[in-house]
Amino acid sequence: MKIGFVGLGNMGLPMALNLLKAGHEVRGFDLVQSQLDTFAAAGGVIASNANACAQDADVFISMLPASRHVEGLYLGEQGVLASAHPKTLLIDCSTISPQVAQAVSQAAQAKGFAMADAPVSGGTAGAQAGTLTFMVGAQPSVLDYIRPILEKMGKNIFHAGGNGAGQTAKVCNNMLLGIQMLGTCEALRLGIANGLDPKVLSDIMSKSSGRNWVLELYNPCPGVMENVPASRDYAGGFGVDLMLKDMGLATENAKDLEASVPLGELAQQLYEAHSKAGYGQLDFSSVFNLKK
Ligand code: NAD
Repeated sequence: MKIGFVGLGNMGLPMALNLLKAGHEVRGFDLVQSQLDTFAAAGGVIASNANACAQDADVFISMLPASRHVEGLYLGEQGVLASAHPKTLLIDCSTISPQVAQAVSQAAQAKGFAMADAPVSGGTAGAQAGTLTFMVGAQPSVLDYIRPILEKMGKNIFHAGGNGAGQTAKVCNNMLLGIQMLGTCEALRLGIANGLDPKVLSDIMSKSSGRNWVLELYNPCPGVMENVPASRDYAGGFGVDLMLKDMGLATENAKDLEASVPLGELAQQLYEAHSKAGYGQLDFSSVFNLKK
């Protein structure tokens, strides 16, 4: 299959590399030259712009930061929907607002395209290992078609519902993750203040009722775990500003529906304070160092 891939960042690049490894022809584009160089070194074809990625592609995948980037990519006179052939199946893997995902897929369907929202979970390590979880919002027949491609990048593929439902599942998951990270940081900080070794405390909590994904795979305290952002000065990984965006998606969605998310709102304020203190580009586990 010929695949177009736009957005070769922390997540998109390893995902595209897994498609190359699986033998697909992948044409990619990003705004950052160093990302393109790594992609080309692995056998990817660099396109001159985003629309050129979609030309003649069987499947076109986007992995961009936020809603506005996705709207900019697909919609308008210069957008992919205006230049691609409707035989190209569109998959947006970015984490964006469920409402924007619905609006973009409706615009796509109006022009004869099939489209899926397929945001992911699993972090950069999951993207590299090809073990991501995909949360798909699409018609069942669209998911049947794209499943073999998603399986080259992920291990668990869930059908959340129709267009936009994948994003709703992702927003709920990331609100929980953001809260879980802050809770884990607080527990570790309290233990350290009492003189406990953070590695010993992490081992204890990982086998006790405080066990969670952050403790098991993404410990925020430097020196406890190898190969996590905390052990490389919080570089790479999942940026504070991306987590702040996801918290905003959750609290806005809750406001629209009059759903109650007081912990989500508090977590949003804490990530915002950390971002405003100048740490927006660091991995979100750097909230371990949040000054209050
Ligand atoms: P990133 O900032 O590392 O990558 C985004 C890439 O998009 C950048 O390389 C940027 O240059 C590129 N880009 C932006 N606008 C573009 C355009 N118009 N044309 C071409 N390229 C463009 O972000 P990321 O960490 O890879 O995250 C991507 C998405 O995945 C986000 O929505 C994020 O919330 C989500 N996500 C991230 C993680 C994670 O652990 N990093 C995990 C799950 C989901």
